[in-house]
Amino acid sequence: MPTRLDVALIDVGGTLWPNSWPIRNHDAVGRRERIRAAMPDIEAAVVETLADNLIESSRPGDEARSISTENQVSINSPAEVLITGCLGRCGLPSDVDTIRRLRRAMSIPVSDRMRPLPGAPELLAAFHDLGLRNVIASNTYWRDADSYWEDFRLLGMAEHIDAIVTSVDAGHLKPHPAVFEMAMRWAGVPAERCVVIGNREENDVAPALALGMWTILVHPDDPTPIASRAHAVAPDLWTCAEAVKDMLGSR
Ligand SMILES: [Mg+2]
Repeated sequence: MPTRLDVALIDVGGTLWPNSWPIRNHDAVGRRERIRAAMPDIEAAVVETLADNLIESSRPGDEARSISTENQVSINSPAEVLITGCLGRCGLPSDVDTIRRLRRAMSIPVSDRMRPLPGAPELLAAFHDLGLRNVIASNTYWRDADSYWEDFRLLGMAEHIDAIVTSVDAGHLKPHPAVFEMAMRWAGVPAERCVVIGNREENDVAPALALGMWTILVHPDDPTPIASRAHAVAPDLWTCAEAVKDMLGSR
């Protein structure tokens, strides 16, 4: 048992939110408006061509993410590469700032159809009650920490989040340890005072164990796992909160 836990590193897709991301036809309209706002100094016709290009090039990934947020399309083609290609085809330069603005413009905002999984706000509140800090540690395609802050504010969950680290910010997708390492640096604590909460053995549990962190595999939106190396397995987020209480011996 850990003597002390200071930080919970919490995954999002399949953990706090559903695994899949619903896309709708009118999401393209919102993206187009945000792309226009992101490119104020560029001729309107060029911006429309760029928007066509971005939306069309993103279709395979969007469709794959409507089935699972963790998929090969996202892993093999980072958003930056896709955006750079679209800018190039429109004869526009691709500097870091433009790429970031377009990446945020392409994030589909959370909507009435994207609700947190049952018990998600309560889990974050329970961890705060236990004295833990909550750090979101998530693989994303379009979203960086700032986009996620907006989402969590809209969902009324931001008050129980202390920091957000995405694979976009860390530069690598989990299972690469960069996301967890960046979260540890933010928190200023060693691995043995961190507990990772996630729904993927290979992306969440395995890299956390390799770093020497505590682990809980949750499956509120997945089938019951056949086996896990995690310290605890929880079918829902209330059970997960109890598992952390048990770890701390505070029940
Ligand atoms: Mg996940």
